Amino acid sequence: LGTDVFDEAVRSTCDVASHCKRYAVSVGYWKDPYIEHFVSHPKERKAPEISRGYYARVQGVGRLLKAFLEKTKCNCQIINLGAGMDTLFWKLKDENLLPLKYFEVDFPSIVSRKIHYIKSKPPLSKPIMESHSEETVLIDAHSLDTSRYAIVGGDLRDLPKMEEQLKKCHMDPDLPTLLMTECVLIYMTTEHSGDLIKWVANTFRSAMFINYEQVNMLDRFGQIMIENLQNKQCELVGADACRSLETQKERFLKHGWETVNGLDMLKVYQSLPSDEIKRVEALEFLDEKEPFEQLMQHYCLCWAIKDSQNLGLADITL
Ligand code: SAM
Repeated sequence: LGTDVFDEAVRSTCDVASHCKRYAVSVGYWKDPYIEHFVSHPKERKAPEISRGYYARVQGVGRLLKAFLEKTKCNCQIINLGAGMDTLFWKLKDENLLPLKYFEVDFPSIVSRKIHYIKSKPPLSKPIMESHSEETVLIDAHSLDTSRYAIVGGDLRDLPKMEEQLKKCHMDPDLPTLLMTECVLIYMTTEHSGDLIKWVANTFRSAMFINYEQVNMLDRFGQIMIENLQNKQCELVGADACRSLETQKERFLKHGWETVNGLDMLKVYQSLPSDEIKRVEALEFLDEKEPFEQLMQHYCLCWAIKDSQNLGLADITL
């Protein structure tokens, strides 16, 4: 695929994620009153395995994130890279857990769509304005900057420009910072994702990097999964799909991080409270457990820490 065609396909993955999340929310896997505002198409049924997988992803990332907010007492910033139509800002606001500032980055065309949704839907714009303390809001087609929420259109492969854009929105390298990439790095080359991971380690004094994505895609099930996903046009498998959990972790250590943890998603799922697992498993019937378990072993959650300010970030676990 040519770069432009590939990038366009990568941008479309953002809709896959929001459709899957909306469906899972409508079945009752978790609560998210905001996701429906970011999905324009009618509801489409998704296989129970997919919804259960998204549930584990949202819970796993959410637990790490809350542990970080607790350690830093919310005196921190969050930067969601390749955020797509993610609704985390609004959910944190509802839970009174907003960081000092929450940033999102995605391709300009995705960002302008998100800004359009925000501008045209009061349930999205009101929370942003409620947390805004200045008189004016800076807004153009590809960026929006308010006191607590900023979104910028850029390319994660052009780091000098992205840094400049984030600094314009008052990103502060001295604040403890949580960076997250959910199904994003996989669409970049090893070199580009490595540069991004290194940039974060070199830029922030204390930081946590949460990465969620596919893993072990070169084994037999991984190959079948790639074929199935592509046939169903369910998900695009990117350039960098060959990592094992070990190489996932190694790239953080290689690029300036002090500690790194990683688990496959089956382990993450099994670590969730048993009453929650019971509730979720009663929502939709699964004929067979094995395909679900295999699917979950092909996704992983890694979190890397750099803690120059000794905030105790290395203690964070699921
Ligand atoms: N993180 C969101 C979530 O979990 O719902 C969206 C995930 S979606 C699978 C991947 C997102 O990464 C898309 O919105 C895509 O546009 C964005 N993305 C991928 N590569 C990017 C790049 N080089 N620059 C900016 N955004 C990128």
